[in-house]
Amino acid sequence: MAGYLSESDFVMVEEGVSTRDLLEELTLGASQATTGKVAAFFMADLGAVVRKHFCFLKYLPRVRPFYAVKCNSSLGVLKVLAELGLGFSCANKAEMELVRHIGVPVNKIICANPCKQIAQIKYAAKHGVQLLSFDNEVELAKVVKSHPSAKMVLCIATQDSHSLSQLSLRFGASLKSCRLLLENAKKSHVEVVGVSFHIGNGCPDPQAYAQSIADARLVFQMGAELGHTMNILDLGGGFPGLEGAKVKFEEIASVINSALDLYFPEGCGVDILAELGRYYVTSAFTVAVSIAAKKEVLLDQPSREEETSSALKTIVYHLDEGVYGIFNSVLFDDTCPTPTLQKKPSTDQPLYNSSLWGPAVDGCDCVAEGLWLPQLHVGDWLVFDNMGAYTMDTKFLLGEIQAYRITYAMSRVAWEALRRQLLPAEDDQDAEGVCKPLSCGWEITDTLCVGPVFTPASIM
Ligand code: PLP
Repeated sequence: MAGYLSESDFVMVEEGVSTRDLLEELTLGASQATTGKVAAFFMADLGAVVRKHFCFLKYLPRVRPFYAVKCNSSLGVLKVLAELGLGFSCANKAEMELVRHIGVPVNKIICANPCKQIAQIKYAAKHGVQLLSFDNEVELAKVVKSHPSAKMVLCIATQDSHSLSQLSLRFGASLKSCRLLLENAKKSHVEVVGVSFHIGNGCPDPQAYAQSIADARLVFQMGAELGHTMNILDLGGGFPGLEGAKVKFEEIASVINSALDLYFPEGCGVDILAELGRYYVTSAFTVAVSIAAKKEVLLDQPSREEETSSALKTIVYHLDEGVYGIFNSVLFDDTCPTPTLQKKPSTDQPLYNSSLWGPAVDGCDCVAEGLWLPQLHVGDWLVFDNMGAYTMDTKFLLGEIQAYRITYAMSRVAWEALRRQLLPAEDDQDAEGVCKPLSCGWEITDTLCVGPVFTPASIM
């Protein structure tokens, strides 16, 4: 083990204990003491992160994964990924500091923001972060001045017009502008060592990766003609984090592998990287949010007999978290978060048309509408799955504002798999074996966690 993660960083769970059991213990135990201070309790299954990594290695064996810290910079995630040997892609100084703080060497950090503040470039220079991305002349000039020995990665635009969120609206040089950028870098004695791209989130067509890999090949040729020694291809992120995603990870991987074979065949001397965010963490996090207030709204004037009918009223529930916080995917990724209830409703309980709203006093902070839920009460907990990506702001995680609580858990099976894969030769990449689901007890079970009430091992 490299020593980034130890058993005291998480709750070790045995088979059969579910994430929900752990969340229930946590919310029951902590709700009294923390009422009003903590808006959400996250339960993070670090075993799910480990499993994702093994799948990545299986399907993209030529690609060296970096983790995009902006996606979820909680310490447990950073530590488990550092332990697995990943590099880190940072967008700013705070993220570089965080990653350095857990002991990651600077040669495993890439500052992958093509438009940085000068202070961030100076920070990278001072601490020896060498790999920086850029996509325009102004950025190049800033680097010449503040970090002349940097090794630059040229970020190119992609065909992401069909992606849910399109990064190429803001980032990425067009192929036309690449030659001039490479020429100017050469004149300024700045080394350009590679090409990166990002196909955006929710790209419906994996061929977008193949197109960008082909574009990158052209830029490598331009670079070589101008005397740059380029040996890094960075495939960016955009890999799905949900198990049921429309385009499967395996499908994307297969397109990428074919394109790499064509344009960057094995032995070509190019180091292939990717900067994954949501892929690693989305499904690993479950969150419990409590109901802060509720209101019943009558849809029509009911007749006497109809007064209690569930169809005529809608129930508006107010949560302490909304679309400007952990549910921002509603605005940006067009999701519809659907909760499950911590207390299972009985089958004869009537269901009511219900909506969930966040704390902002405006008409946009709607988390979900048109849900059919039983009558719930202030203080009841709603549980949302797949909440690991882009849900937490770094400043919360740095402890500037105490709004979330995160408890990390990992099954013994996952822990052993993690430890074994770090011992060379012992496992010999038996990918089929290690890619089996590593349970943190994801299966919902009626058996409650027996034994002592656990104390969260790592709460930030
Ligand atoms: N790399 C860069 C430069 C990004 O901007 C992002 C996200 O915006 C990522 C990687 C991670 O993307 P994803 O979470 O889709 O994997």
